[in-house]
Amino acid sequence: MLINFLKNYFLVSSDQPLGREEKTFQQSALRILLALTVCIFFISEIHSLFIPGELSFLSINSVYLCLLIGLLYFSKKYAKVTAVLFLLTLVTTSFLLLTLSDEFHAEKYALVSLYSLPLITRLLFSFRACLVAMAINVYPFFLMTSDSLNVGQSDLAPSFYFQLLTFVTLNIGLPLAVSRIIQTLESNASHMKVLYRKLNDNYAMYEEFFENTGTPSLLCDQRGKILKANQLARDLISDSKRKYLPDSTITDWLSPLGDTGRFFWQSNVAECTLKQKTNIHIEIRRAALTQHGHYVLHLQNTTQLRAIQQELESTQQTNSRLAHFDLLTLLPNHRHFCHQVNQRIDEQDSHLTGAMFIIRISHFKLLNKQYGKDSANKVILNFSKMLQKRLSEQAIIGRLRGVKFSCFVPLGQTYLIQKKLSTLIHSILPSQITVDGSRLNMDYHVGIAYYHTDGKTAEELLEHCEMALEYSTSIDRFSYYNHNLENKLIEEHKLGLKLSTAIKNKEISIWLQPQVTPNGQICSFEALARWQSNGKFIPPTSFIKIAEDLGLLPLLAENLVRELVVTLSQWQKEHIHTPIAFNLAGQELMNDGFFALLMTLIADNPWLTNMLELEITETSSVMTHPLIHKRLRSLSQYGYSIAIDDFGTGQASLGQLVDIPADILKIDRRFISPLPGDQRHIDIVKSTIQLAESLNMKVIAEGIETKEQANLLAALGCHTLQGYYFAKPSPLSDWTAKDNAKAKELRMVY
Ligand code: C2E
Ligand code: CA
Ligand code: CA
Repeated sequence: MLINFLKNYFLVSSDQPLGREEKTFQQSALRILLALTVCIFFISEIHSLFIPGELSFLSINSVYLCLLIGLLYFSKKYAKVTAVLFLLTLVTTSFLLLTLSDEFHAEKYALVSLYSLPLITRLLFSFRACLVAMAINVYPFFLMTSDSLNVGQSDLAPSFYFQLLTFVTLNIGLPLAVSRIIQTLESNASHMKVLYRKLNDNYAMYEEFFENTGTPSLLCDQRGKILKANQLARDLISDSKRKYLPDSTITDWLSPLGDTGRFFWQSNVAECTLKQKTNIHIEIRRAALTQHGHYVLHLQNTTQLRAIQQELESTQQTNSRLAHFDLLTLLPNHRHFCHQVNQRIDEQDSHLTGAMFIIRISHFKLLNKQYGKDSANKVILNFSKMLQKRLSEQAIIGRLRGVKFSCFVPLGQTYLIQKKLSTLIHSILPSQITVDGSRLNMDYHVGIAYYHTDGKTAEELLEHCEMALEYSTSIDRFSYYNHNLENKLIEEHKLGLKLSTAIKNKEISIWLQPQVTPNGQICSFEALARWQSNGKFIPPTSFIKIAEDLGLLPLLAENLVRELVVTLSQWQKEHIHTPIAFNLAGQELMNDGFFALLMTLIADNPWLTNMLELEITETSSVMTHPLIHKRLRSLSQYGYSIAIDDFGTGQASLGQLVDIPADILKIDRRFISPLPGDQRHIDIVKSTIQLAESLNMKVIAEGIETKEQANLLAALGCHTLQGYYFAKPSPLSDWTAKDNAKAKELRMVY
């Protein structure tokens, strides 16, 4: 403790403030000199107390002791002044001793004191002050050597040289040597100062750099204790509830995600969440600065990045779903279906068989039109669900465009004949689907191809199913692919192109087939379309179907009806009141434009109600559609006569006779040709006539080819007869030629 006190008092401890070395050094030297002098005077004071008769010395000593203690006391506060006073005391005392005292010891003491003056001055003041002190000492030297010179010539040299040696050594040599040391120390100190300043600058720069890395950064030790955190890091990890506290650890703020381990900050990259807000994600990246044993960690808020990543992933998933599946039914789309089937085919051994078929829901456009898109979509959805439920798990189902569904059914080793396969397919197709409480009758067309006789890949099989589908009719809804179909389709395609030009150029002509009363008089006509391509008549059954497929029926019907109306107008003027029946397949009636035309025609020409009849074919499946029924009711209300054509052949139930407001029932040729020999057919015709009568409908029998048939039908009560027996169809122009000459003959009838 005493040593520490002394060290502190004499300012010799090692942790002295930097930059004030010179002052400290001078103060320290002053205190040491004063303290030692005080000690000596104190000892001599004590000593003189024990020597009697030394009163004057005692009192002078006491004065000096007090003076020195006082200086020592004030040296702390007024160092410079004290130093000056100390030197003055030294000089004055020395000079007084030198000049006034005769005592040899006193003189020696004074001289030593004076000669040590430059050294003390150098310690307490500057080098210049030291030089002044050196110069002052020339006088005592001179005083001493002049004395020695006066003593005697023989002693001159040794005494003088002794004096000179003392003078030079103490007064010049020592102060200069000490000055040199002090100078070195001073230059070292200033060098240190420069280094210290540089270090300080570097530290400040580092601080600034750390604070402004632009990234939230932490400095932590191996155990995760945060030694430093820049403002961004503090803002990031602490929130309004919890303020950042220095000396906390990383685990106070962050929890690691995944299996990065307990010391997650030691790994290169770690994913974390904030402890307080687990929805905030933080990524920790460790900088490669570990030489100092600490970790510099850069933090990044990856919450948004993760959200974007997740969004991206879900978009990718959606895209992949879009690329592979139908969004409504979630069934594989065309491409994915083919992929799955091909995969299955590859897995199967070459002996296995299978069937591919495309199911098309019929009249879906009508459904859309009547119930709206949403309900129609529900139909598709319900249908796809039922299909999936009814087909075996082995089957692959896909949705092609629109209302076409594709199925691939592996049949194993058994080869199903067409009839069995049709029964199988039939059993999976729902005949009714309930949507929004109402039950809809469903119709399908199916195109079927066998694997592997009709195709070896999914794509090939699908193409052949499509071809077969093209050939499905309202009667044969299940159509099987065969090799001839391909050529037939190509031919049809060519014919379709020609037909479309023919319809646009109005090259389809009207022929009329007379309808007669039981006594053989022409009472009406049926208009039949005729098309001659390359000098050859194409049967209407063919080209009407092609026109229907190409959606050209409404245009064809419009052209024909307009032509008919022109003729009928002339007949009207000529008082030829023979009506003409016009065939409608259904597509025409579904067309808003054609329906409007019929309504306008009757509005403009009210007499048309008696002249233009509409024949609708029961076989056409569109005819079962409620919209057609609605339109037919309107047409009937406006006065048109409506005939149900080919009655008995179609799929329409008898009940639909009630829905369609028909006035005429046409018994199909199929029931007439077996007459009169076949009793069963006679009965059918008979009951049909009775049915018509009960419904207050007129009956026309068509396809009468013999006299017997004609007589029989007349006898059964048939009102109107039509067939080659009476007349074959002939061009309209035959009847209108020469100012309607032939038609005019008919006026006699009425
Ligand atoms: P359909 O409406 O049943 O017309 C009667 C068909 O029977 C006509 O055939 C006619 O020539 C034929 N026929 C009449 N009497 C006899 C007979 O005694 N024996 C035989 N073997 N056949 C007889 P066509 O003209 O070939 O017409 C076929 C079908 O084409 C028509 O059947 C009709 O469904 C359709 N069609 C004809 N013209 C048009 C039209 O302008 N529009 C529409 N949508 N369909 C038409
Ligand atoms: Ca007809
Ligand atoms: Ca017919």
